[in-house]
Amino acid sequence: MTKRTVETLCREVDNMVNNLLHLSRHRFVLWLAAQKKLLTKDRMADMGIGYDKAACVLCDQDGPEDHTHLFVDCEWSKAVWSGIEQWLGVQVPQVEANMVLQFIQNKHWCRMKKEVIAVVHGARIYFIWQARNWKIFKGITVNTSSIVQQIQFIVRGRIEMFIDTKQARKCIGYLEALCN
Ligand SMILES: [Zn+2]
Repeated sequence: MTKRTVETLCREVDNMVNNLLHLSRHRFVLWLAAQKKLLTKDRMADMGIGYDKAACVLCDQDGPEDHTHLFVDCEWSKAVWSGIEQWLGVQVPQVEANMVLQFIQNKHWCRMKKEVIAVVHGARIYFIWQARNWKIFKGITVNTSSIVQQIQFIVRGRIEMFIDTKQARKCIGYLEALCN
């Protein structure tokens, strides 16, 4: 994927989040993850600062802890993903953050459904990255089901704010199912 395409996709997600759901922290981390710019152990080792290419703290698998491992291959992250997929009722491929955005963009879903799923994707990336940081810097272990619950809570709250809009009415059955 070219840089321009990533920027276009992220700008679209940016607009989605800005216009409707206001998860600016999530948007920022998603933006970095889509460009593989988060400071993973792998990147820091390549930059000559800090870490060796050591184990992922979420699943304790031997390294390298990089974007592909954290958001695609990590067994801990996969558990978050599968919990979300069951709730969303749609299959989203387990691929790099930018490719997920592309997948959503190419789907023939109504706009609100695309926005909701893009926001869920951003929240997933954000909470996985936060769990990784909490484990490393605070020694706090987060369990995957609590992340799924947090994402559901946040996204349901935002859906309820926009449930009466014209866009929402186009896929009202889907949105109501997410809120129940
Ligand atoms: Zn892992």
